[in-house]
Amino acid sequence: MLANDIERKLHSQKQYFFTGATKPYAFRLSQLKRLKQVIKKYEAELLDTLEAELRKPGQESYLTEIGVTYEEINFTIKHLKRWMKPRKVTTPLTHIGSSGVIYPEPYGVSLIIAPWNYPVQLALAPLIGAIAAGNCAMLKPSELTPRTSALLKKMMDETFDENYVAVVEGGVEVSTELLKQRFDAIFFTGSVPVGKIVMEAAAKHLTPVTLELGGKSPSIVGPTANLELTAKRIVWGKFSNAGQTCIAPDYLLAHHSVKQKLLERMEHYIVELYGANPRVSGHYGSIVTERHARRLADFIDKAHIVRGGKYDTADRYIEPTIIDQVTLEDQVMQEEIFGPVLPVFEYKELDEAIQFIRSFEKPLALYLFSTDSAEIDTMLQQISFGGGCINDTLTHIATPYLPFGGVGQSGVGAYHGKASFDVFTHHKSVLHQTVAFDLPARYANSRLGAKLV
Ligand code: NAD
Repeated sequence: MLANDIERKLHSQKQYFFTGATKPYAFRLSQLKRLKQVIKKYEAELLDTLEAELRKPGQESYLTEIGVTYEEINFTIKHLKRWMKPRKVTTPLTHIGSSGVIYPEPYGVSLIIAPWNYPVQLALAPLIGAIAAGNCAMLKPSELTPRTSALLKKMMDETFDENYVAVVEGGVEVSTELLKQRFDAIFFTGSVPVGKIVMEAAAKHLTPVTLELGGKSPSIVGPTANLELTAKRIVWGKFSNAGQTCIAPDYLLAHHSVKQKLLERMEHYIVELYGANPRVSGHYGSIVTERHARRLADFIDKAHIVRGGKYDTADRYIEPTIIDQVTLEDQVMQEEIFGPVLPVFEYKELDEAIQFIRSFEKPLALYLFSTDSAEIDTMLQQISFGGGCINDTLTHIATPYLPFGGVGQSGVGAYHGKASFDVFTHHKSVLHQTVAFDLPARYANSRLGAKLV
């Protein structure tokens, strides 16, 4: 039944795509505007739902879920016409008389699978790219934030013909059925293990796939860092959304000369941002499910606590927590933490820090706090990572001019701004050859070319 339903929906979307309706600039533009309008219409309800499901504070939700989505739509609307234009390229001397043109064309029907941690933004940002590039799309939001997913479905159903954009709700069983189908492009955001399942499914049909995954993203604090700003920015980046951010600092590597002072200032800023009791501050989120909270509480139970450490798993509450004296063998260092628990390590020589980071998979993000340009250059040259910031956390994700994505196990492909258009686009290269003359050099009988004309 489920399989038939999905198959039928996909078939209808493919038929619709083949009518060509989704390709004109005017159509894409109007759909982007409609998307923006429906978010505006449901803005308050979206914020309420995020508050109810993830206890996300209104201001944080607006900034990280709604505001960035408007920005992405506005940026796309502003540049779309230019991105869509076929691009003439030069041809070498051997191709004299011809011209090369790159035609951006939509893949067709794309599948977007989204996670729960920023359930609005991470569903809609890829959809903006799919629409901009002229695709149809099927969107599967996360089952772990069911109210937000249901609201997204209501909004999309109200806005788009389901032959164009359809939302399919459900969990693993629905994802599995979707992945059996032959889509023209797949865009997945989620964990590394599920990313591998998605890539394997995509390989069966050779479907182009973008994987936005996670991993252990380090924050490194060098001896020359401005400790006040460093402490504030790490605390904000780690504990926003209760640490459930794919690019949150996973662990901290501090130079031994600044570690103590840094920890003191971080404790100060935890109180500044979230009050003495974050639970009642109204500025601090909850963990997505009790099961996820228990996993984090388990890390805390086994750790040496520097600050925080209180939890109430039934209420999905985990206090902002800093832990110390951790070893690489501890479970907290064996997997992505994805919650408000921050292990701290110290190093003496930069090379030690580099070797430490290299002992993990290539991270999705890296944050280096330093005012020493030689140190910054060394880190940028020695460590491969998806993207990141020097002297900040998270903010590289919020500019449409920087493509966002991972490398190695932290992801395949990148999006945001023009990159979002590109991941849903095939760039078709065409050589327009002249019929005015025919150079003989390529033919076995070199007089042939001349004769043909
Ligand atoms: P997840 O991989 O468990 O789930 C993501 C999506 O995949 C959901 O829609 C879910 O229904 C589906 N899914 C789950 N199991 C599946 C299976 N076996 N087969 C097919 N589909 C399946 O991830 P999550 O818990 O929702 O999100 C947390 C993870 O996502 C973290 O690892 C985080 O780093 C990562 N993440 C990455 C980004 C990014 O932009 N790179 C953003 C947010 C989250």
